[in-house]
Amino acid sequence: MRNFSKSKLLALRQCPKRLWLEIHRPALRQDSAATQASFQVGHQVGDIAHRIYDPQGLGSLIDVQREGFNAAFARSKALLQTHQPIFEAGFCAAGALAFADVMLPVPEPEQGQAGGHNAWRMVEVKSTTSVKGYHRDDAAIQAFIARAAGVRLQGISLAHIDNTWVYPGGEDYRGLLVEADLTDEAFARTEEVVSWIAQAQQTAASAAEPDIQTGAQCSEPYACGFADYCNRNAPKTEFPVQWLPRIGKRAATLAEEGVIDLRNVPDDRLNDKQRRVKAHTLANTTYFDAEGAAAVLADYGQLACFLDFESIQFAVPIWKGTRPYQQNVFQFSLHTLTASGELAHCEFLDLSGNDPAEPLAQALIQACGASGPIYVYSAFESTRIRELAERFAHLSAALRAIRARIVDSLPVATEHYYHPSQQGSWSLKVVLPAVVPELRYDTLDGVKDGGMAMDAYMEAMHPDTAAERKKQIELQLLAYCKLDTYATVRLWQVFAGRTDWLL
Ligand code: SF4
Repeated sequence: MRNFSKSKLLALRQCPKRLWLEIHRPALRQDSAATQASFQVGHQVGDIAHRIYDPQGLGSLIDVQREGFNAAFARSKALLQTHQPIFEAGFCAAGALAFADVMLPVPEPEQGQAGGHNAWRMVEVKSTTSVKGYHRDDAAIQAFIARAAGVRLQGISLAHIDNTWVYPGGEDYRGLLVEADLTDEAFARTEEVVSWIAQAQQTAASAAEPDIQTGAQCSEPYACGFADYCNRNAPKTEFPVQWLPRIGKRAATLAEEGVIDLRNVPDDRLNDKQRRVKAHTLANTTYFDAEGAAAVLADYGQLACFLDFESIQFAVPIWKGTRPYQQNVFQFSLHTLTASGELAHCEFLDLSGNDPAEPLAQALIQACGASGPIYVYSAFESTRIRELAERFAHLSAALRAIRARIVDSLPVATEHYYHPSQQGSWSLKVVLPAVVPELRYDTLDGVKDGGMAMDAYMEAMHPDTAAERKKQIELQLLAYCKLDTYATVRLWQVFAGRTDWLL
C-alpha cells in the first residue's frame, strides 16, 4: 500500500486528476512564478516561526531531505520522548505521512490524563493572513496522521500572519503570527481523512487518467500546475469572453453553456461597458469619447504633476514600524508640466536597504510643490500617501495636502477610451501602446513591469550584489518609473485634448 503525503492528499482534495497526474505524469507540472514565490515566502515565515516558538534554540529540526524518510520518522519518534520543541517532525501511519511545522510539548501541569507518553500541541504555520478552507483540511490530515502514529496530540492550531501587527525592530518577531485553534474540528474529521486516503489509493491505482474537465477547481485553492496540459485540447477562440471587463466567474458559467466567444454572448447579458468592449472588439474600432474625457479633465488647471510609485512587500517585515505585506514605496518618478508647456522631471530611488519611507516622503513633499493637480493612473499612489501620512505625524499635513491634489486618470480611460488591442484591460502597459504607439515598455532594458521592479529592488539591496550590477539596476529602475509617469503625461495630453502642447 502506498503512503500518501499530506500534499498529495490536498492535491486530491483539489482535483483527483491532479493527484493522478502528480503520481503518473509529474513532469507535466509547471508551477507559475507566483506559486514558486509563495513557496519562498512560506520558507521565510517558517524560519521566523522557529525563532518565535523556540526563542532559546533548544528544539530540534528534522531534515527529511538530508536524513531520509525512515531515519526522519525514527528520530521524530525519539524526540517525542523529550520536552523540547520539534520542527518538521515526521509521522507515517494508516497509509499517509506528514511533517508537522511545529510540535510543542504540553507543560506538565496541563498534560491531562497520564498516558505513559508526553502530550504535544501541533502548530501549522502559514504565510496567509487568515485561516482558509483548505487549511482546515490540512489540519485534519496532520492531526489524523500524528494521532494514528501514536502521538498523544492534545491540540492543533494554525498560525497565520497578523497583518495589523507592527514590527518593533530589533529582530523581535513575537506578534507576527496569531494562532487559530482548530483542535475540535480537526479531531472530528477522522472518518473524512480515512475516506480521502482510500480515494487516493483508488485514484493512484487506476491505469487511466481520471476524466475530469477543467473548471473552477483549477485555480482554487491553488493555481494548478497541470493547467497547460489539461487545456491543451481546449477549443481556441478568436475573441474570448474573458476580454469582457469584470466578467469574473460568469465566464465559467458562460463556458458551461458552451459560450466562449464574444460573438456568441447575447447583448442583454452584458452591461454598457461590456457591450462597448464587445462591439469595438468585433468591429476592430477604437472607442474614444474625446469630449467626455476632456470635460472631466477640464476642471483641473494647466500646471500639473504626474506621479508614479514603485513598492515592495514583505511577509516578514524588515523595517521597524512597518507591517507584514505592507506596500513599502521605495521609488517615485514625478514629471511636472508648467503652464508654458515645459516638462521637468525629478525622481527618488533608495537602494541602500534602509527603510526608504521617510526620506521618500520628504523628497515627495519637496518635489510636488504647493498647488496644481497631481495625475496618477490608479488609486495606488493615493493610498500609499495616506499610509505615509499616518506613519509620519510630522509630515502628515504636507502629505495630506498632496493627496488632496491627486487626480486619477484611470477612470477617465475606462469610461472614455477602448482599443481592441487592450483585450479587456486598462492597465497602463496595454493602454499606452494603443494611445501612444511610439511609447513602449518592451523596448526598456531590464525592468519592464512592476514585478520585475520588485525583483530588481530585492537584488540591488542585497549585500552581495556587486556595485556595478547595482548601478545597472538603478538605471533600469529609474528608466522604468520615468516611463510610467511620462506615459501618464502623454495619456493626459490625449484625453485632455492638449496634443497641441509640445513636450
Ligand atoms: S488543471 Fe484542473 S482539471 Fe487539470 S488536474 Fe489541475 S485542477 Fe484538475
